[in-house]
Amino acid sequence: MDTPRHINFDYAAGYPVDPEVFKAMAPYFTERYGNPSSLYALGVEAREAFAEAQIRVGELVGAESPEREIFFTSGATESNNLALKGYAFRNRRKGNHIITSSIEHISTINITKYLERNGFAVTRIPVDKYGVIKIDALKASITDETILVSIMYANNELGTVEPISEVGKITREKKIALHVDGTVAVGKIPVDVVDDNIDILTMSSNDIYGPKGVGGLYVRLGTVIEPILQGGGQQRGLRSGTEDIPSTVGFGKAAELAKRRMPDDSKYTSGLRDRLVKGMLNEVEDSYIHGHPTKRLPDIALVRVFGIEGEAIVTELDREGIYISTGSACASKTLAPSHVLESIGLNEIQRHGALQFSFSRLNREGDVDKLLSVLPGVVKRLRDISPVWKFKDRFLEMYTSEEEEEFEQF
Ligand code: PMP
Repeated sequence: MDTPRHINFDYAAGYPVDPEVFKAMAPYFTERYGNPSSLYALGVEAREAFAEAQIRVGELVGAESPEREIFFTSGATESNNLALKGYAFRNRRKGNHIITSSIEHISTINITKYLERNGFAVTRIPVDKYGVIKIDALKASITDETILVSIMYANNELGTVEPISEVGKITREKKIALHVDGTVAVGKIPVDVVDDNIDILTMSSNDIYGPKGVGGLYVRLGTVIEPILQGGGQQRGLRSGTEDIPSTVGFGKAAELAKRRMPDDSKYTSGLRDRLVKGMLNEVEDSYIHGHPTKRLPDIALVRVFGIEGEAIVTELDREGIYISTGSACASKTLAPSHVLESIGLNEIQRHGALQFSFSRLNREGDVDKLLSVLPGVVKRLRDISPVWKFKDRFLEMYTSEEEEEFEQF
């Protein structure tokens, strides 16, 4: 499945489709090409395949009535749009205030900015140095006008897992809806919409080895959302448009596999992650791990190397056939330093040295060894021509030995 030419530590940018998923999808492109709205047998077959996918995705996150609570979209961006705009516009007569965090994915950030332009008030609560949202700030920002809280389950850059069950207790008690962006968490760590009092949950298929271009949205029964697409009324009117059965079936299969493989995959990827991080901290002077030491995803690590531009390292490693990312896979094209790293208190120079590693079940132990054999030399070469490194004493500050100690707690 993985081509031998390259070593990938940037799976967050895109996963290959699992062969079992691909196999499950295949017949729905050809002989089982029916439209679920058709009354004859071909349509019934498509309807059943769709319902089965809903059940599989629903089971992954503990939905009680998957056939009424799971919707399929074109991806996590659309799910976030439907969740936030759909809930806000439908419920605006109850209030116009939305609470979110400063480290949400760029899609959520841009949607909430759009809502601000359309008359909503948005509070973005801060995070601590690990990227954990400040619960007291969240509690303090609730007003009589607050209708919706939107917090990600885990952060896609740092890997930090947010205290969603605590948030869920607060929102449930205050009768405020809770939307959670579960894109990088669902299928990687246990997520249960009932236990956590989640009303709306964004999910992504590709992040669990399903096809790209399909996402999911859990909407708890009784939570009302305005559709953002007007059309033929498919998916109970919430998401019009002829259903994409092959993708939906693929997402369903991926969800089934993720549920079964989660314990083994998580042990495997976290083992590789810890080896890589420990190796880097040992081999590369002035490198630092970010994110929460223990409450973190098994497959993401953000390590910062002082004194060089992350992009230069990405390019140098590419020459060696090794893929890594400088941070958010979704925003790295802009070269803008990450808002997440700014939120945890890193200055611009520090942010520029951020490297993100995301692992998958396809990585091998040898991948880590190869990276560790190449990286120190790359860093040295780049530092030799770096003005920041030359004047490092003037620049170096914050997050030093304290973090290396915390890393031991992994
Ligand atoms: N939310 C989070 C947390 C993400 O990491 C991403 C990107 N993978 C998205 C939403 C948007 O996903 P997509 O680009 O697949 O719509």
